[in-house]
This record gives sequence, C-alpha cells and structure tokens, in this order.
Amino acid sequence: MKCFITDIHVHSPYSRATSSNMRPDILSKYAKLKGINLLGTGDILHPEYRRELKKILKERGDGYFEVNEVLFILTTEISLVFLKEGKVRKIHIVLTFPDFITVEKLEKKLSLYGSLTSDGRPTLSLDTVRFIEIIREISKDIMIIPAHIWTPWFSLFGSNSGFDSLEEAFENYISEITALETGLSSDPEMNWMLSSLDKFSLVSNSDSHSPDRIGREANVFKGYLSYKELKEVLEKKDKEKFLFTIEFFPEEGKYHYDGHRNCGISLHPEESKKLNYICPKCGRLLTVGVLSRVYKLADREMGYKPSDYIPYKNLVPLKEIISQAIGKSENTKETEKIWEILIKKFENEINVLMDVSYEEISKTVDSRIALGIKNMREGKVKKIPGYDGVYGIIKVYEDIEVKIVERDEDNEEREPQMSLF
Ligand SMILES: [Zn+2]
Ligand SMILES: [Zn+2]
Repeated sequence: MKCFITDIHVHSPYSRATSSNMRPDILSKYAKLKGINLLGTGDILHPEYRRELKKILKERGDGYFEVNEVLFILTTEISLVFLKEGKVRKIHIVLTFPDFITVEKLEKKLSLYGSLTSDGRPTLSLDTVRFIEIIREISKDIMIIPAHIWTPWFSLFGSNSGFDSLEEAFENYISEITALETGLSSDPEMNWMLSSLDKFSLVSNSDSHSPDRIGREANVFKGYLSYKELKEVLEKKDKEKFLFTIEFFPEEGKYHYDGHRNCGISLHPEESKKLNYICPKCGRLLTVGVLSRVYKLADREMGYKPSDYIPYKNLVPLKEIISQAIGKSENTKETEKIWEILIKKFENEINVLMDVSYEEISKTVDSRIALGIKNMREGKVKKIPGYDGVYGIIKVYEDIEVKIVERDEDNEEREPQMSLF
C-alpha cells in the first residue's frame, strides 16, 4: 500500500440529520472513489446500529474490520454536557475501539449517564475528568480525541461552552488524550499559535453526515498501520509515519469569522473586538467564531511553526471546483458527469486534487477545471469566510460570482435549539 489515508469521524443514520446512506456497504464504495483507506463507523454505542454492523463487518484481527476491501474502525462521538465552576460545558469527544467487547463494556458503564439509544451521538451528563476515568478503567486501547476543538457550541475551546485550557478541562488526565481534531473551521497553522498544543498530533476528519462528504478532511500516513500502531503514531506524534493532514481552507468552515447569520453580519476578529462583540444590527452578542477564539487563547503570532510540526494541504472538494468552472451547482448532472470522468481515469478524488498533473487533467476534461485545481494547489484562491453557521466560499477563479449555498446540516453543529438540561 502507498499512503494510508484515514477519516475516522463520521456519523450513521442513527445520528440526527444524517443521510440514510451512511452505512459501511455504501460508504465503502464512496471511500474507494474518494481515496480513503480507513473509515470510522461512527455511532458504535448505538445498540441497533451495532447489531447491523456486526452482520456486515468482517473482523481482521488488527483492530480493524473490512467491507469491500475498505477498512473500518469502531468509533463514536459523545456529547458531554456538565457543569464545571458554575458554567455549563458542552464538549464533543471522538472515541475509537479495538473490538466490540470493549465497546460493550463501555456501553454498560456509560448508559448510567444518559440514553445511548435516542441518538447515534449520545449526550451524557458526565464531566470530562470522570469520563476519562471511566474509559481507562475499561481499557488503555480506546483512543480519546476531543472533536472539532474550536467550534463555538460543542467543543473543548468553544467560545460558548468550552474551556480556556486543556488543564481546566482534563486536569491530571491530559496525557490520556490521543490527539486533537482541528475541525473544518481551523487548520494546523491556527493551532500552532498555542504552545500548549505542541505535544499533540492534530488530526482532521470529515465529521460527515453524507457519503459525498467523506474525506473532505483526512489524515495521511506513510503506509498501513494497525490499530495499535495508529494509536502509537498519534500519541508520539511520529513525523516519520504521520505525513500530513488534508484540510479545508479554514475560511470555508461554518464558524471561521464572528457574526450573526440572521443579521447577515460577518466580521474579522479585529473588527468585532472593536465593537465589543455586539452585533451592529441587532445589538445582541455576536457568535464568536474560531479565528477570534484562537487569537484570544494564543501565546504566539500567526505564522509560527513549531519545530516538529506535521504539515498539511488545503484542498477544495472536486465537485466544488467543477461547479465553479462550469457555473452549475454541485448536485447537477453536468457536475456529476465531469466528476465521474476524472475519477474513472485517475482512480480517486484525492489523487485528482493532489497528484495528477495539470497537463493530464487538461487532456481529460476542460482545461478550465485543470486551472481551478492548479489555483487551489498554489493557494491562488479568493476566500469569503464562513460565520455563525454559514459556510464560507473558496473561489478558485478570479472571474466568477458564487452564491452562498445553504447546504445540508452537518459538521460543526449550530447552536442548540433547545436546552439540554
Ligand atoms: Zn461534534
Ligand atoms: Zn445581529
């Protein structure tokens, strides 16, 4: 095997607002088209979903399972909601498991703190410290990865319900954290502004709710790694084996800037700071985005590179590039057709986006599409940052108008519609 590409944070149809196609048999087909070798199952604590998975997944003995030559790792995301120091905290954490027995041991313990059947991503009233204690009482092999650590509503450093430091959140258990997930709205460079994160591997996953979106963020390793080896590489931040991450341009994420969706207000952190984070239109507090939050907690300037950093590449999904090139929306037949031609010829999407030459792409489809890919690779893009739940736009051509599209609800959840207490 060449590179080993992983995307371990996805959801099943048992999570809210998720496509009914998010099942390993269908996902394995998409994984091949995208170029992903290892996918998370998501939602593994849900008993009904687990029953289905046990029928489909073939255990390999290396900590992974197989469907149509694509590997799967047992994973879930958990939403912890708890009070600490007088504040309500809401934090999402991704877990991975080496086998079903470990999942079921944990299921027994966690079911005391909330329902594991009502949502594929269960909400537990349990604080971070006790949560880690419970996990480690069961197994040393479970990976613990705080999810999309900067999003405002449900994350470790989130402006609305998170913490200001790892110590505050995890106290004496920081060393039990396997890696940190940067999320769509931040990229490694932003995270490098905090020296306290230097010792962690920064991972990227799609947090996808539909098959089309898997692999939009991913991790690239030098070659195949077993479950045990993967955990070790992440814990050690092994630069020899963890080659780079695939990232959205963080501006494309839904919470990059500060703003108000309903007021149509989007502001750079410097501007919102001047306004004291008050919306100039409605007078209420702005939703403080990821960039603002990073600046607030950072102890370094933007642009700083830690000595042992893992590099990254910013990509734009291929259908977005095609859509901009031909002026048709992403889910039209026209876009789909060109996407298929490219995938058929060059094997998978990640290949097309990262490796296939401009000349080769030009020979296969309209050279304007090749130009878009070239612009993306060279970072020659125009960025309109996302804010308060609105996706940003990355324009790969100077000369086009792109309308903001409302996409399906997925990653980086919006604010809760109702109180969870
Ligand atoms: Zn989440
Ligand atoms: Zn407003």
